[in-house]
Amino acid sequence: MSELLIIDQLSVAYGHVEAVTGVSLKVMAGEIVTVIGANGAGKSTLLNAALGLLPSHGRIRFDGRDMAAVEAEDRVGLGLCLVAEKRELFGTMTVEDNLVLGGFRVDRKAAAETLVQVFDRFPRLKERRSQLAGTLSGGERQMLAMGRALMSRPRLLMLDEPSLGLAPKIVADIFAIIADLRATGVAILLVEQNARAALNAADRAYVMELGRISLEGPSVELARDPRIAESYLGLG
Ligand code: ATP
Repeated sequence: MSELLIIDQLSVAYGHVEAVTGVSLKVMAGEIVTVIGANGAGKSTLLNAALGLLPSHGRIRFDGRDMAAVEAEDRVGLGLCLVAEKRELFGTMTVEDNLVLGGFRVDRKAAAETLVQVFDRFPRLKERRSQLAGTLSGGERQMLAMGRALMSRPRLLMLDEPSLGLAPKIVADIFAIIADLRATGVAILLVEQNARAALNAADRAYVMELGRISLEGPSVELARDPRIAESYLGLG
C-alpha cells in the first residue's frame, strides 16, 4: 500500500494558543484511520489544517506532493476532501443541487455518473432529491454532506465527527456507509468522539490529547488497551 497522506510534525495555533502540537500521522491508500480524543483535543483543527483552511507549521504531503504551496481549493481538486462537523449545506437549495455543486470541479459527464453512484449509495437522498436541504433530518444531512464530498471524487475523505448528534440507528447506518466506501477504494480519515464505533471501523487509530498524539496503533490493539478502555470506552 502506498502512503496517501503524510502529516509530519504539524503545529497549528490560534493566536498565541497552540491547538495542535507536533502531530505526525499517515494514511495509506485505501485505509481507514481514526483520530479519537476528547472535546477540544485539537481533532477538527488537525483536519482543517490538513486541508489548508488554517495556517500551520510542519509538512503535509498528499499523494506524493508537498501541500505547502497548494491552496485548499486545489487540494480538493487533487482528491483530498473534508466533510466538516457543521455539515455546511446550502439549506435553501435542493438535495440534488447541493450534490451537483459538490461536483463542479469534475467534468459534466463524470459528475452525472458520480451523481448516479451517490444516489445508489444513499437511496434516501434519491427519494428526497427535490427537497430543500434545510428541511432534512440530522442523519440525512450527514448523508448529504458525505454525498456532496463524494461528488468531488476524493481519494481521501476526511470526516469530522460524522456521528455527532445522531440517533444510534443512524450512527450505525453512517458507519456502514463508511465501511462500504472503503470497499470502493476511498481512504478515510475519521475524527470521532464516539471511540467505540470509530475503533470498530478503522484499521489504525491515533489518540489525541491536548493537541498531541498520545497513543497510536492498530485499532484492535487500542480497543484492548486499558488506558483507552477507561478514558474513551467508559470501561474503567
Ligand atoms: P471538538 O470535538 O469539540 O470539535 P476537537 O478535538 O475537534 O474538539 P478543536 O475544535 O480542534 O478540538 O479545538 C482545539 C482547541 O482549539 C480547543 O481548545 C479550542 O477551544 C481551540 N479552538 C478551536 N477553534 C478555535 C478558533 N477558531 N479560535 C480560537 N481557538 C480555537
